Amino acid sequence: MIEEGEGKTSGGDPTVESSATGGVAGTVAILGRPNVGKSTLLNKLVGEKLAIVSPKPQTTRNRILGVWNGAGGQIVFVDTPGVHGARKELNRFMVGEALGLIADVDAALLVVEAGDEPPGDDPEREILRGIEAARRPVVLAVNKVDKVKDKTVLLPRLAAWERAADFRAIVPLSALSGSNVQPVARELLKLLPEQAPLYGPETLTDRTERFLAAELVREQLFLRLRQEVPYAVAVVIDAWEERAGADVVITASIVVERESQKAIVVGKGGAMIREVGTRARHEISDLLQRPAHLKLTVRVEPEWTTSPAALARLGYRA
Ligand code: GDP
Ligand code: MG
Repeated sequence: MIEEGEGKTSGGDPTVESSATGGVAGTVAILGRPNVGKSTLLNKLVGEKLAIVSPKPQTTRNRILGVWNGAGGQIVFVDTPGVHGARKELNRFMVGEALGLIADVDAALLVVEAGDEPPGDDPEREILRGIEAARRPVVLAVNKVDKVKDKTVLLPRLAAWERAADFRAIVPLSALSGSNVQPVARELLKLLPEQAPLYGPETLTDRTERFLAAELVREQLFLRLRQEVPYAVAVVIDAWEERAGADVVITASIVVERESQKAIVVGKGGAMIREVGTRARHEISDLLQRPAHLKLTVRVEPEWTTSPAALARLGYRA
């Protein structure tokens, strides 16, 4: 099935040439520093809000698959946590997760910001070394071109990136506006093996509705919490009750490390948690396409971000 434009079930590009043998399929890791726009790009490509997006770095902590279906084939995207300095157990887990992914995929998509000077900082060099060691082809997405006011700096910058590594293609784009996003899929298709689709045409993600609902709660917390607090927050779905009237009642815990953080998350007279709950409930209802009710409680679990056992229990596989 091919859909025009950015439909609900697929953002596939109808202009991609169909191959006589039935097309290609494969996996692509989306890599890059936190906050460069990886989740925004994935969402734009597959045409649905799958990965959570926020202006704070490291919003994505887990692998999330998004499936792009088009005439040329199928691309299974893996969104990764940003690679950055490993300061704590949780950070180390995220770095290992991103680099460990490369060997498991057919190709990589490195996302950088158009405003950044190539060849990039240490995390980017680390990613490129990982890609090179795994001998995976890589496409470079130079994102946020809309933020570059003086367009004359763009060409020399792209040329410098071209010298920095052996990219199969370099695509300047704006994930936010959607400008030049589909050429990324076209370039990636060229790197994938000829084979049958890995997932059915309706599949958008292998994540469960429960996982995505927890992510939407976490996204609202990320958008509102300052400084260190967001990184000490986990969201766990405790109960999920589908009711006869086609609505769903979700009970979730917000786990923090300290009483002081709990006070911040709850807010004055419960204002913060009420606002988070209201916004997240709207987002979850949109995602599930049925009414959702959300009951949130805040729980203190000391040191959860530094204990491998607690990380595993809260869904971050150690
Ligand atoms: P990730 O950490 O790499 O997954 O980054 P996100 O996708 O969460 O995006 C981080 C921030 O950058 C968000 O505030 C996005 O709205 C913003 N952003 C992403 N793409 C663009 C873009 O093309 N232009 C601009 N101006 N902002 C963008
Ligand atoms: Mg992200």
